[in-house]
Amino acid sequence: MTSDFARPDPTDEVVDLCRDLLRIDTTNTGDNDTSAGERLAAEYVAEKLAEVGVESVIHESAPGRANLVARIPGTDPGRGALLVHGHLDVVPADADEWSVHPFSGELRDGYLWGRGAIDMKDFDAMVLAVVRHWQRTEVRPPRDIVLAYTADEEAGSDYGAHFLVERHRGLLDGCTEAIGEVGGFSYSVNDSQRLYLIETAEKGIDWLRLHAKGRPGHGSMIHDDNAVTALAEAVARVGRHRFPVVVTDTVRAFLEEVSDLLGIELDPEDPETAIAKLGPIANIIGATIRNTANPTRLAAGYKDNVIPGRATATIDCRSLPGQSELLERQLRELVGPDIVIEYLQRQPALETTFDGDLVDAMSAALRAEDPGARPVPYMLSGGTDAKAFSQLGIRCFGFAPLRLPADLNFSALFHGIDERVPVDGLQFGVRVLDRFLRTC
Ligand SMILES: [Zn+2]
Repeated sequence: MTSDFARPDPTDEVVDLCRDLLRIDTTNTGDNDTSAGERLAAEYVAEKLAEVGVESVIHESAPGRANLVARIPGTDPGRGALLVHGHLDVVPADADEWSVHPFSGELRDGYLWGRGAIDMKDFDAMVLAVVRHWQRTEVRPPRDIVLAYTADEEAGSDYGAHFLVERHRGLLDGCTEAIGEVGGFSYSVNDSQRLYLIETAEKGIDWLRLHAKGRPGHGSMIHDDNAVTALAEAVARVGRHRFPVVVTDTVRAFLEEVSDLLGIELDPEDPETAIAKLGPIANIIGATIRNTANPTRLAAGYKDNVIPGRATATIDCRSLPGQSELLERQLRELVGPDIVIEYLQRQPALETTFDGDLVDAMSAALRAEDPGARPVPYMLSGGTDAKAFSQLGIRCFGFAPLRLPADLNFSALFHGIDERVPVDGLQFGVRVLDRFLRTC
């Protein structure tokens, strides 16, 4: 890319910005008393924007739970704005398990290491680097760009994106489309071809608690109404159940492209055989062809020789687009009439089409920086802040461009030990994002 002497190159600056952000411990424990880092990180972003003349506002949903929003005016105010969002919080990291300290932002072997390196301070830094470069060189985007740096994504976004949508939606006025995390990363097919997975869909969140009731009693006696036994049977039925395969439009488009590239015969009745050949991303894609239900917590009892009257279990369910009600019926059948189902979280799945000017701009920017790029739509099995922003009618995509080495197990790094981002991938992301945002 053309270098502008006397001004920092954004591909250099992104490394410093990302490292600085990694050094701010923004661990989200789910407890408001321990979330001071989010405020520090938001202030850091505000300062980096202010240095180049971009004003921002910070709104706290609770002390320390800081959310930053800024608007970069575009040349055509008549067009809908593009929301570019990234969360500042990270999941906890245990330093004893890591090769480097998770909040040291260490540069080693061509990678920046640290909790949040790919989820998602990398993208936070890329966006900052591009905006700072534009301000210095007087580049204006074709439409308004609204930047949102959020808190609390890792614990359900109540103090982050949902708070912004519910309490400060005026800041998001006019946003029609959005880009955010978990999309735009590469998956190498061979030396010359890479898929870039652009998120156009994400599964719904259906977290629920099962309640079993029984007759309390003494552990030494004959007892035929034991809440623990009833709950355990229900949990086992749910945990072992395989829900039927349903291939949505997004997943079908993805599988067709992949099968074509890999030369695999795609059997529409049996997509799992093709998915099994995808290596490290098989566990992401495999979860997007059916509803899933994984038991995650059990609670019952208070003494070894007392049969408790109640027992509960938490099930982490994820539903395909349009399947949440069906999943609920399927679960009721599995657990039986005596178990009560309580919903803890219910957020709908999202799905949009892989077409239009914005998708064209993403694809063109990727191809310009990587001639071997094959952009494909895919469905994320998890959830992101897009769930909140889509409530405003915003069409959301996961597009945080990153070119990855062929041998890197990217999906294992999410919330994983030794999370790290390749520096050249980060720099690639800046170049793609710069092109994309100029043409969005
Ligand atoms: Zn994330």
